[in-house]
Amino acid sequence: MDLFEHQAKELFAAYGVPVPAGKIAHTPQEAYAIAAEFAAGHTQPTNPDRPAGGTSRVVVKAQVKTGGRGKAGGVKLADSPEDAADKAGQILGMDIKGHTVHKVLVEEASAIAQEYYFSFLLDRANRTFLSICSVEGGMDIEEVAATNPDAVAKVPISALTGVDRAKAREIAAAGRLPDAAAEGAAELIERLWAVFADEDATLVEVNPMILTADGRVVALDGKVTLDANADFRQPEHLAFEDVAAADPLEARAKEKDLNYVKLDGTVGIIGNGAGLVMSTLDVVAYAGEAFVDARGNAQRPANFLDIGGGASAEVMANGLEIVLGDPDVKSVFVNVFGGITACDAVADGIVSAYRLLAERGEAIDRPLVVRLDGNNAERGRQILADAALPGVQQVDTMDDAARRAAELAAAGAAPRQGA
Ligand code: GDP
Ligand code: MN
Repeated sequence: MDLFEHQAKELFAAYGVPVPAGKIAHTPQEAYAIAAEFAAGHTQPTNPDRPAGGTSRVVVKAQVKTGGRGKAGGVKLADSPEDAADKAGQILGMDIKGHTVHKVLVEEASAIAQEYYFSFLLDRANRTFLSICSVEGGMDIEEVAATNPDAVAKVPISALTGVDRAKAREIAAAGRLPDAAAEGAAELIERLWAVFADEDATLVEVNPMILTADGRVVALDGKVTLDANADFRQPEHLAFEDVAAADPLEARAKEKDLNYVKLDGTVGIIGNGAGLVMSTLDVVAYAGEAFVDARGNAQRPANFLDIGGGASAEVMANGLEIVLGDPDVKSVFVNVFGGITACDAVADGIVSAYRLLAERGEAIDRPLVVRLDGNNAERGRQILADAALPGVQQVDTMDDAARRAAELAAAGAAPRQGA
């Protein structure tokens, strides 16, 4: 799960990582009130050595789970509470890379002397953790890495020894941070390691980590990805979930323990194994180009759904129910490669799912294209052929099945009678 910047900074603050004082606003009026509070000097104690008497300068920042907000106009400085309300009004409702801004973070503005880059991440290829540190921060780190690779230090971290102050100093030095920032950065890096390790994160990124005009090192931005596999031992992470943004179908799928992601096409997808499902999405998207519907749209996948290895009748029924719960779905492509769960078991699952859904009063009313391959494919195909389920057709290859599903979706095929 990715966190919003303000959530990342709340975590940082809990671990003693210096962040600017800030609060969330959903309206320009709230932004005004927060900026007025900062101007009066009633700030949170997160920035203790802030000049006394309050600051009237704030920065208003779009809270969306994507980068490059600054470039998109989603980060604006404001000189007064009136100005903060004005800037919040400009940013709220803005679309940044497909994300609508519903809230802004209003922070005391920082006087920036220098901007650095810092992150901890999981380095899967090298089976270790990695820290990345650079004196050239603030901008796209990929760009810096391409044009000036020497300025980007990559220091592996042992999971066993982690990051102590000495290691943190080594990282800051490798990133060529100046002496003025070295100790402050080392302290910040050591604490960020505690965030990364104790919170089961797979990414903690601070870009920029800044040196302020008065010599402090502060996390000015924060990007954190938490490892959902660790949810069982991180009950507090539940509070970070973005309930408002959750798709209702995704929420229902989650309740049923299904790996479902809603997309915006018309071809429902069910497969076993994440890799197979992802390539199914690609194949359907490609095949769908050729089938333009009455509204002039090409056909695209409507969802990702991996029913995993043991596709029981109940899992298949739940999967079909979720996929068909999306009114945009006009056809469903069930793509199964039999492995430990053989194709005959999956075919039985589909047959039972039809019965189960009919019993639940949700009889399947859209066409299903099924491709079975792998372990016991022949027997699986025979089971489906014998069952002669209305609306179900079998196609032998993945490409042909994708084309057929896209064609049916484009036709918006009418339900068969008596399904
Ligand atoms: P991003 O574009 O989504 O990565 O958003 P950031 O939080 O990194 O902000 C983008 C840029 O805005 C930073 O690199 C800074 O240059 C600038 N910025 C953000 N906060 C402040 C601030 O408090 N004062 C000043 N002067 N600039 C800021
Ligand atoms: Mn940033």
